[in-house]
Amino acid sequence: MAVVPYKHEPFTDFSVEENKQAIREAIKQVEADLGGEYPLIIGGERITTEDKIVSVNPANKKEIIGYVSKANKELAEKAMKVADETFETWRKSDPKFRADILFRAAAIVRRRKLEFTAHLIKEGGKPWKEADADVAEGIDFMEYYGRQMLKIKDGAEVNSRPIEHNQFHYIPLGVGVVISPWNFLFAIMTGTTVAAMVTGNTVLLKPASTTPVIAYKLMEVLEEAGMPKGVINYIPGPGSEVGDYLVDHPRTRFVSFTGSRDVGTRIFERAAVVQDGQKWLKRTIIEMGGKDTIVVDKEADLELAAESIVQSAFGFSGQKCSACSRAVIHEDVYDQVKDRVAALTKKLTVGNTSDPSNIFMGPVIDQGAYDKIMSYIEIGKKEGELLVGGTGEDSKGWFINPTVFADVDPEARIMQEEIFGPVVALTKAKDFDHAIEIANNTDYGLTGAVITNNRVHLEQAREDFHVGNLYFNRGCTAAIVGYQPFGGFNMSGTDSKAGGPDYLIQHMQGKTTSEML
Ligand code: GLU
Repeated sequence: MAVVPYKHEPFTDFSVEENKQAIREAIKQVEADLGGEYPLIIGGERITTEDKIVSVNPANKKEIIGYVSKANKELAEKAMKVADETFETWRKSDPKFRADILFRAAAIVRRRKLEFTAHLIKEGGKPWKEADADVAEGIDFMEYYGRQMLKIKDGAEVNSRPIEHNQFHYIPLGVGVVISPWNFLFAIMTGTTVAAMVTGNTVLLKPASTTPVIAYKLMEVLEEAGMPKGVINYIPGPGSEVGDYLVDHPRTRFVSFTGSRDVGTRIFERAAVVQDGQKWLKRTIIEMGGKDTIVVDKEADLELAAESIVQSAFGFSGQKCSACSRAVIHEDVYDQVKDRVAALTKKLTVGNTSDPSNIFMGPVIDQGAYDKIMSYIEIGKKEGELLVGGTGEDSKGWFINPTVFADVDPEARIMQEEIFGPVVALTKAKDFDHAIEIANNTDYGLTGAVITNNRVHLEQAREDFHVGNLYFNRGCTAAIVGYQPFGGFNMSGTDSKAGGPDYLIQHMQGKTTSEML
């Protein structure tokens, strides 16, 4: 029987009193459960270690989300053995069986949506709206990839001659190491993990060390949905020990990573080395950073332009690889847009997102992020005019006020380097050609937006603005699974389009069989 067509999960409107009340209740319930202990899961076995990762709420460092057992090389090796053995049965499992696990898991999360949203508010410091979208996206990945697997399971059509029968289909690769980020702590962690699993691979899941508890929750959901033991193994631990060990491991068949450019590049290099006893070239699926630009033309809705810049720059404190960190504005409308961006930014609220009043912007993830962003703000003060913000406060949590710099040179560091925080730089362009030239003047190529009413300019941008996700007359964040496949060019990664029709195939290899009749 066919499954119902895919549709993305609706978002929750927190301006509705009933929804506000519901999330406040959920936050209280999650608070009652904080501070628990979470073991590793290897072959279904719960393993507790002495050494722990302590996950804290970045809005309130004293609030401990959980104590998570920490894997080391020995445990990573044990997990690899289990994953390697489990692959021999899992690779032959019916794709429909695998997809059904995802459909059930999506239904379980949907039923527990408020609890998951509240958890992300705590563990990720996410504002309500962002946490809700993160949970929705995780559900979408499960629903979408489940359906995609059903679509590709019989392979693709190839020709045959009268005396032969040719077939082409995809088989899984082997053991995949999934290293997931903290910013979309549920969505990207879930998406990258289940894409690897539904395609018949077994998985070693190493979630970000700042947000490991949510990954444990996903494991519980998948187990409840019927996932056999050993298919996904949960092994949080330090990148320098567990991550490197597994990326280098000769039995690792592929690595799926989302995170910083430095780490992504390092993984790419290490994975390229053929180790003793290794029988394949490892596949890498890598999603790194961005230096994403909104271009504002002179013939444009300027209010829309200012709103798009502010939303895209400061949603989740700019901690998205899709975030707008540069706005290139036509000189004829530069002053107007600049003033509106400043005015809208000044209205934003910043604080602890567990607060009952639905705050716009929460903290940044940890001390390292705080220090790095604050140092970029100092650099920005030398490179441009500080229009709004520029200050931070890290006594209780890691809070940085939304910061706007104006009149920044396109070659300046804050126009070139990824900051991954609530900082946006504005610059002036002489004309549209010049604006696109500045927008493309970066090592990255992830997202971009153009605000214009000029159809010719839209078409020009479609051809020349070199980004994986290009948006017209809207902001440059918030891609939706199955609607706007997401991934970028150049140093943004391997342009593996998460939530897109060719994503699963990257976790597989094509096999041709030809039978003489
Ligand atoms: N997919 C997200 C978006 O479109 C960004 C993902 C990321 O930051 O890694 O905003």
